[in-house]
Amino acid sequence: MGAGQFAPSLKSGGVSGAGMGSSATSGEAKCVFCDIVARRSPAWIVNEDESTMAFLDIFPFTRGHLLVIPKRHGARLTDIPFDDQMALIRSLDEICRRVERRLTPHYNISLNTGANAGQIVMHVHFHVIPRYGVGNPFRATSRAPLTDPDARAVVAELAAP
Ligand code: AMP
Ligand code: ZN
Repeated sequence: MGAGQFAPSLKSGGVSGAGMGSSATSGEAKCVFCDIVARRSPAWIVNEDESTMAFLDIFPFTRGHLLVIPKRHGARLTDIPFDDQMALIRSLDEICRRVERRLTPHYNISLNTGANAGQIVMHVHFHVIPRYGVGNPFRATSRAPLTDPDARAVVAELAAP
């Protein structure tokens, strides 16, 4: 398990476990999440293990909006092997526990599958969206780009196991 941030312009620290070169990393061409797994693109990583990764959504609905992904590329849950599905659920559980302990016991989990269901990044990912009592989770809420100070603060709260 490891946690930390990775960004070319930022100090890369605290990230451990399998990452670049992992056998779990397929490196699908032109996939932004495979690029994050392979350390070709930056991300605010909150948790990582051999086959999964959790990082902040770059365009959060709320503070602490996270994405939990398998390292192995697959567009949808039914595309990835059973073991990766199980690992993904374990990782999701870990993230949910951290959100409950450190941010709020209220959150939405979503897994958009297919373009008509709102999937934009075709690498399977759970959204974990903390809720703080503002807005209806089933209606669109405003989103703003993730800022570095916010990201740093949330990672500091969530990165420790
Ligand atoms: P979906 O609509 O379910 O495919 O959601 C894709 C999510 O990925 C959106 O909430 C984006 O804000 C987020 N996203 C896209 N690129 C990145 C990135 N490089 N780092 C973090 N989050 C990203
Ligand atoms: Zn991918």
